[in-house]
Amino acid sequence: AKSMGSNRLRVYKSEYGEHASKRTKLLFDLKAAIANKKLSVAYQPQFKLDDQSISGVEVLARWHHPEAGLIPPDIFIPLAEQHGLISSITDFIMQTAIRELLDADLLYQRIPRVSFNVSAADFNNQTSAQRFLHNLADLPGDLSVVELELTETSALLNLEGVKKVLNVLRERGVQVSLDDFGTSYSSLSTLRLLPIQELKIDQSFVRDIATNAHDARLVKTILAMASALNLRVVAEGVESHQQARYLEQQGCQEVQGFLYAKPMGLQSLKSFVHNLSAS
Ligand code: C2E
Ligand code: CA
Ligand code: CA
Ligand code: CA
Repeated sequence: AKSMGSNRLRVYKSEYGEHASKRTKLLFDLKAAIANKKLSVAYQPQFKLDDQSISGVEVLARWHHPEAGLIPPDIFIPLAEQHGLISSITDFIMQTAIRELLDADLLYQRIPRVSFNVSAADFNNQTSAQRFLHNLADLPGDLSVVELELTETSALLNLEGVKKVLNVLRERGVQVSLDDFGTSYSSLSTLRLLPIQELKIDQSFVRDIATNAHDARLVKTILAMASALNLRVVAEGVESHQQARYLEQQGCQEVQGFLYAKPMGLQSLKSFVHNLSAS
């Protein structure tokens, strides 16, 4: 039994070792990708349900690893958050998207809003507000074209910091959206505590609205609540016409999902926007 035990231990150790060294390598590569500006951005349009016009784009970080190919943000964003790298990613993503959209003359008339995903650590020091404003410095006039999407979980991790920074940014016009709405325990208190203009109904609720009466009622209730509180609502993860029809019947104004458009690079976004306005 003793030798079996030590054998087991050895197996565990080497598996753990392999796991740990994979992560170490990924972290090492991520640092290099950030330093060498190898991350890129994808844009996913959002639409108004009433006239099908573009209401905005969500900016999503992309990492094409030289050997491993596309690494999903669900992998590298948490890694960046754990190792103090997220603000350099946020800075890069914001600056890149703003520059690309302005250069292509897409912002304002063609795309009235650009939304960025932000993390708790983007709010945790004295210079956070200044860093956001610096990233947005090329935008003329007020900043109401910009929206920050934050999740309940990240908002509550650092409530005081988030509040302070959001108050500064709100004065400049920046919009605030509560992402993945409904998936945490504290959706309602987050709404009470932070200056929020928009809810994004999480795709896990949207997925089954056409087939599951309970999920359908939940979404209906969220929409009624948002309307009573004067909040804009975007439903995310819309993949079918049935889902879209139900959302429209219940008064949802905006949608985002594969049914309408997938995340895309700048060139595709340009053609997408031009085709839309030509048709
Ligand atoms: P999220 O903010 O909830 O973003 C929505 C995710 O759903 C995106 O995945 C998008 O590609 C995907 N999606 C959009 N429409 C559909 C649909 O119709 N069906 C399905 N099944 N999926 C859809 P993505 O790009 O892989 O991003 C995953 C998550 O990574 C994001 O979730 C966000 O939490 C995080 N993330 C992405 N970019 C950034 C960033 O620049 N900064 C931060 N802090 N987080 C980011
Ligand atoms: Ca988001
Ligand atoms: Ca979301
Ligand atoms: Ca999500």
